[in-house]
Amino acid sequence: VTARNLRAPFLALAAALLAGCADPAHTPQTAPEPETAAAPAAPPSHGETAMPAQPAPSGKVVKSDAEWRKLLTREQYHVMREKGTERAFTGQYWDTKTAGTYKCAACGEPLFSSDAKFDSGCGWPSFFKPLDGLKLVETKDESLGMARVEITCAKCGAHMGHVFDDGPPPTGLRYCINSASIELEPSKDGAKPADPAK
Ligand SMILES: [Zn+2]
Repeated sequence: VTARNLRAPFLALAAALLAGCADPAHTPQTAPEPETAAAPAAPPSHGETAMPAQPAPSGKVVKSDAEWRKLLTREQYHVMREKGTERAFTGQYWDTKTAGTYKCAACGEPLFSSDAKFDSGCGWPSFFKPLDGLKLVETKDESLGMARVEITCAKCGAHMGHVFDDGPPPTGLRYCINSASIELEPSKDGAKPADPAK
């Protein structure tokens, strides 16, 4: 047996393993529903205030692939869950100048203010920074033969777009975001964007 003969099956196995874990966002749909969980055995010890049910401590929004498919439009699903890119100059917000707050179209997390939106000429909504204090997840993306930094929603993992370092002052950054990934909530007075602190 030559080394060459041994190598081919090994590579096939490695490729299969890599393919199996390439996209952790696509979780199996077999997770049990929480409604069947048993009631807590003991009453809460901090009973002085009755608090409403809280989301998971991490604050993350986790849904099955089937749930996302139901919740999102076809294009939103393609962009946000399959990391697709809408065609330039076709999205809903590439040329929008309305004041307001852009939220994640999947989970509603406020992401960008219209104050930070600028006309980049690239055909996608572009921002020079996210909302103050907001953490977006940045991941190296070397697909399509380009070295880019992918941006995803920290709360639900939805693909947003990419961030480049050719933006305007003060940050020099350009968050190039798909319209399909965001939803504009116009500010109430039509002039000032919503205060993210509220
Ligand atoms: Zn989100």
